[in-house]
Amino acid sequence: MAHCFLEVALDTPLNSCFDYRWPCQPGDEPLVGQLVLVPFARREVVGLVVAVKEHSEVPPDKLKDALAVRSQLSPLSARWIALARFAADYYQRPLGEVALPGLPKNLRVPKTVALDRALKKLAKDETPHDPTPSGMPALNPAQQAAADAIGGAVGFTPILLYGVTGSGKTEVYLQACAQVLARDAQAQILILVPEINLTPQLEGNIRARFPGVMLATLHSSLSEGERTLHWMAAHAGKARIVLGTRLAILSSLPHLKLIVIDEEHDPSYKQQEGLRYSARDLAVWRAHQLAIPIVLGSATPSLESWHHAATGRYRKLELRERAVRDAVLPTVKLVDLERDRPKDGLSGALLAALRQRLDRGEQSLLFLNRRGYAPVITCEACGWISNCTRCTSFMVLHKPEHRLRCHHCSLELRIPRNCPTCGNVDLQPLGRGTQRVEEGLQAMFPEARILRIDADSTRLKGSAQAAFDTVHRGEVDILIGTQMVAKGHDFKKLTLVGILNPDTALFSQDYRASERLFAQLMQVAGRAGRAGAASEVLVQTRYASHPLYGAVVRHDYDRFAGSLLEERRQAGLPPYMYQALLRAEAPELATAIAFLEAARDSYPHEAIMINDPIPMTMTRVHNVDRAQLLVESSSRPALQAFLREWIDILRAMKSRVRWSLEVDPLDI
Ligand code: ADP
Ligand code: ZN
Ligand code: ZN
Repeated sequence: MAHCFLEVALDTPLNSCFDYRWPCQPGDEPLVGQLVLVPFARREVVGLVVAVKEHSEVPPDKLKDALAVRSQLSPLSARWIALARFAADYYQRPLGEVALPGLPKNLRVPKTVALDRALKKLAKDETPHDPTPSGMPALNPAQQAAADAIGGAVGFTPILLYGVTGSGKTEVYLQACAQVLARDAQAQILILVPEINLTPQLEGNIRARFPGVMLATLHSSLSEGERTLHWMAAHAGKARIVLGTRLAILSSLPHLKLIVIDEEHDPSYKQQEGLRYSARDLAVWRAHQLAIPIVLGSATPSLESWHHAATGRYRKLELRERAVRDAVLPTVKLVDLERDRPKDGLSGALLAALRQRLDRGEQSLLFLNRRGYAPVITCEACGWISNCTRCTSFMVLHKPEHRLRCHHCSLELRIPRNCPTCGNVDLQPLGRGTQRVEEGLQAMFPEARILRIDADSTRLKGSAQAAFDTVHRGEVDILIGTQMVAKGHDFKKLTLVGILNPDTALFSQDYRASERLFAQLMQVAGRAGRAGAASEVLVQTRYASHPLYGAVVRHDYDRFAGSLLEERRQAGLPPYMYQALLRAEAPELATAIAFLEAARDSYPHEAIMINDPIPMTMTRVHNVDRAQLLVESSSRPALQAFLREWIDILRAMKSRVRWSLEVDPLDI
């Protein structure tokens, strides 16, 4: 019996490709891109064939036989493997750790029962494909020009669609999709949104617009069965539109012809654990690989994308006006809290505006990016405060749940009856979260229908959607929420937005804080007045003369972005500098720092700036101390070359400290 040798990528740390023997006749070998079942460390695991070879360097007595080839599933394409390989190389992870977690779990388990059932269901799901769109509204000239530019783009064309909130970017995407689908009978389109909560709104729009086109969604709240089915529909080329969150960037799309990234500035495109990838950046690479257009849409583009547009690498298309007839951007006013002293966190001006909306039967939104009742409780007698015993943070008061909770390690305690140090029974909440604002509002406006939307109120599956539906049906007068409500939603009856406590971000150590705050304020302000009624945004602040607020009042993203970019250029920060962050955690801070110092000294390099290790701002989480080391270079290739060498040295250090390397970190 003849043999061939399969190089198989497995989901294991360190080197993740292993050779296996497979008995086969020449011409009948397994294919690159097929999944195989192999023995590994006394288990059976599923791996991905990345090469089929006549010889193996591994000594014959060390080679094991592969057990089975998953031939029901057509192989993943060479291009898909190249995408996974690029991501693995760029983010300094082994290929198998990128490629396999990118596949639905059902494909990765040794049993094939689930897979067969999926496959059967997919074969039954045979609806005729008809790309004819229905109910297309007439676009305004700016929208039409943008849709034509995207729909007609040939080859790799990165496009920044810079459109103010409510300018009808969705309609532009949909019409561009229609053009691509009409032109190419097999075309597939990938649309990414930052938040799971935004998929139902867009999914509804797409289904209504393309009743004869198969749509697949991919996000983390699908069941494993659904996820497998949707993934397979995309892999088989049947799903023509795939709508998903960041994880969908690694889906297999054999006929991908257009990528759309909505709200491209959103930090949720960055995966913050494990493989810390940027779905937006991978999407641009994928578009380049396939020589197809990619649209990055936003009212507040990331400085990276804005910079690319300014230097001509991206083409910029603009929508300067709101799409709905007579709709204009809201009037933004600053409420100076030094003059207008707030009651229960709400200034007189905001209370009056809320009252007016209630009288007129219009909706209001209050935005406060802090959940819980109060961020901390204290004892005024002795100064005790509710610190978390495991983290450098406070235990947050959750009054309705009668709990103190740490938002970082999820430690939960009953609210103490009296002070743990002095016994005083009069413990006071300090500061204000969404629950407390809700309570205050209920007392002041007993007749109003008030709804709070935050991570606490939407813990149950489906409850977030139910809450948003209530708002859309007009059954809510005042909506209070965290950043969950700030993004993308098209609330039609909303004419007032109140922004309660944005000041803290002004003085953050994080150099991206002002970019983020500005984007967040513009986004949340952009929820108001979308259906045409005059609308107002009130920003409560103690720093009314801060230039950031001035830019928000003038809706002046252009100039603000320009000045931030200039600051970044002078300070030598991204996008003018490329960064990677080595993080280490240990029970003692000194251990983590010592590891980072050794890492710093292990491989001096003239083209790279290696900073000194520092403790992370929130040093201790869940009883481990965390420190970080920043490496920088003005050349991306130089940084990449350095990291490739460095990571091997770090691995060889065999330290017991837990460490991870992040390329293009967002939070430093
Ligand atoms: P954006 O994503 O740019 O914030 P949306 O795509 O949500 O904006 O559009 C805002 C509103 O404008 C939506 O209610 C949408 O239905 C409406 N709209 C978009 N384009 C048009 C158009 N050409 N004519 C009329 N209404 C439109
Ligand atoms: Zn006390
Ligand atoms: Zn904690």
